[in-house]
Amino acid sequence: MALERTLSIIKPDATRRNLTGKINAKFEEAGLRIVAQKRIHLTKAQAGKFYEVHKERPFYDELCEFMASAPVVVQVLEGDGAITKNREVMGATNPADAAAGTIRAEFAQSVGENSVHGSDAPETAAVEIAFFFSGLEIVG
Ligand code: ADP
Ligand code: MG
Repeated sequence: MALERTLSIIKPDATRRNLTGKINAKFEEAGLRIVAQKRIHLTKAQAGKFYEVHKERPFYDELCEFMASAPVVVQVLEGDGAITKNREVMGATNPADAAAGTIRAEFAQSVGENSVHGSDAPETAAVEIAFFFSGLEIVG
C-alpha cells in the first residue's frame, strides 16, 4: 500500500473533554504517525470555508458554529493507506453506527459532535492539508 498523508482534526467536543491524548493514542496504535500538529481556535468563517462542500446541507450552520465553539487540534497523519486507515480508526459519522473500538464509538457525543474529522480521498486530503499547513510545517 502507498505511503499517504491525510488531514485529521480533533473537534471541539473532544478538546473540551481533554481527550486529545486518548484519541491520538488510537491513531498511533494503528500505525499512523503525526507528522504535523497545531492547536487553533477557528472562527466561524474559517470553519465555513473548510466545510464549504457541505454548504447546501441542513446542518451546515450548526456544524460551523460547533467547529468555532472551542479549540481544535489540526494534524497531518502519515502511514500506509493513511486515508482509509484513519477513516477506519475514526468509525462511522454517526456514533450509533460506529464499530466497537473506534474513536467515534468510544468518544463521540452525537452525529454532529463526533470528536474527529478525517479526509475522505487523496484529492480532499491534499486540499485540506494545504488549508492548514505549509510544506515546512510537515516533518515526516
Ligand atoms: P464525516 O465527518 O464522517 O466525513 P460528513 O463529511 O458527511 O461526515 O459530515 C461532516 C460533518 O458534519 C460530520 O463529521 C458531522 O460533524 C457533521 N454532520 C454530518 N451529518 C450531520 C447531521 N445529520 N446532523 C448534524 N451534523 C452532521
Ligand atoms: Mg467528510
